[in-house]
Amino acid sequence: MTDSLAPSSSPSPAAARNVPQERRIVTAIPGPRSEELHARRLAVVPVGVSSVLPVYIERAHGAILVDVDGNQFVDFGAGIGVTTIGHTDENVVAAATAQLQDVVHTLFTITPYEEYVRVAELLAEHTPGTWAKKSVLVNSGAEAVENGVKIARKHTGRRAIAVLDHAYHGRTNLTMAMNYKAAPYATGFGPLAGDVYRAPSSYPYRDGLSGADAAARTIAYLEKVVGAADLACLVVEPIQGEGGFMVPAGGYLPALQAWCTENGVVMIADEIQSGMARTGRYFASEHFGWEPDLVLSAKGIAGGLPLAAVTGRAEIMDSAQPGGLGGTFGGNPVACAASIAVFETIERDGLLAEADRIGARLRSGLERLAARFDIIGDIRGHGAMIAIELVESGTAATSKLPHPDAVPRLTAFAAQHGVLFLSAGTFGNVLRFLPSLAMTDELIDDALVVLDDAFSSLA
Ligand code: PMP
Repeated sequence: MTDSLAPSSSPSPAAARNVPQERRIVTAIPGPRSEELHARRLAVVPVGVSSVLPVYIERAHGAILVDVDGNQFVDFGAGIGVTTIGHTDENVVAAATAQLQDVVHTLFTITPYEEYVRVAELLAEHTPGTWAKKSVLVNSGAEAVENGVKIARKHTGRRAIAVLDHAYHGRTNLTMAMNYKAAPYATGFGPLAGDVYRAPSSYPYRDGLSGADAAARTIAYLEKVVGAADLACLVVEPIQGEGGFMVPAGGYLPALQAWCTENGVVMIADEIQSGMARTGRYFASEHFGWEPDLVLSAKGIAGGLPLAAVTGRAEIMDSAQPGGLGGTFGGNPVACAASIAVFETIERDGLLAEADRIGARLRSGLERLAARFDIIGDIRGHGAMIAIELVESGTAATSKLPHPDAVPRLTAFAAQHGVLFLSAGTFGNVLRFLPSLAMTDELIDDALVVLDDAFSSLA
């Protein structure tokens, strides 16, 4: 295996690119070169692949995106939680570059290599639970979900899949059927896969239920509508991502796991958005004392290179027959080398604590805003996975009517001023913050000033 960690004192390609960690707007947004590229794109890229902010990015480092017109954006999206340890992180770039020169592809299922094994060892060590674990590596989050379901069905010999209200699991045929929102993910793309059941979730801000009561409601649904005897797996995001960063009530997840264990159901944590140090723990399940049977990771696992994994109890993972799992690019050596560097950097630089620092700073700034803008109904999340849910003015204490259009106006205002924020939420009324762990306090404070102005501009 290549020694993937270059000493931090060595000259790095990323540092040489000189991306000052500051916001800078020098043209209209989008600028003229972005407009030109956009016109070319419209001719050759289908409209189904849309872009939140059509500024074309030329370089990125740390927490800053630089577009082709020289504008610099403070990035609170990190490619939807992918460049968790920062854009063009030096260690990731060095490890991937070295690996590119050694071996780029063999296909692990033909002739294997050490990097795949090392990633599986690191996942076994860092996912919750102390039992023997194994991992299969794939290319995308949705592919990890598909494989988790395959493995659970093979292990149990059962057919049904359960998910929760407000879930998001991907855009493949199976995962489209597992999402809560049909539009835009599934509209017109059917027929969808069958045997997918959607149970009520825990959404404390809106249901007011304790973890025990919410779990009882979920379990009652599973028992009545599906029946445990036919249920292969229950797939749950410990903090729901696209749905709006719902943090379940205390005790909810362990109660569901206990029911699954008693009933021979495989419980799967979709940690694709919440995992890999984002919430101040390696995996968000840890916040809730949940030790899932299988854990799905992707996004932040390889510093921006495409890699995903299903990790879980060895006896469940081993139920798939030889040749039943895999794929041409799954566990690519370059992506694996990058992933090893991500794990090493999280440890070496104490990045779990950085997620907590970012979460505390952001949350206190958001609380100050909430004291002034009554449309901020809820602030929730852990570490560098925080969101605010917006409601109609005057309804925060009563009906909590989802605010229909504040979020797009806030994100548009912020983008014009050099800050990239993402939306989320079943009702489209959630502003989510998924910064990289390279986000400095100064950049957070700067972005909060822009957000303050954005809220003022709504009036
Ligand atoms: N699960 C969750 C929780 C996600 O957030 C996502 C991506 N947003 C996916 C699955 C699908 O991952 P991918 O886009 O890599 O297929």
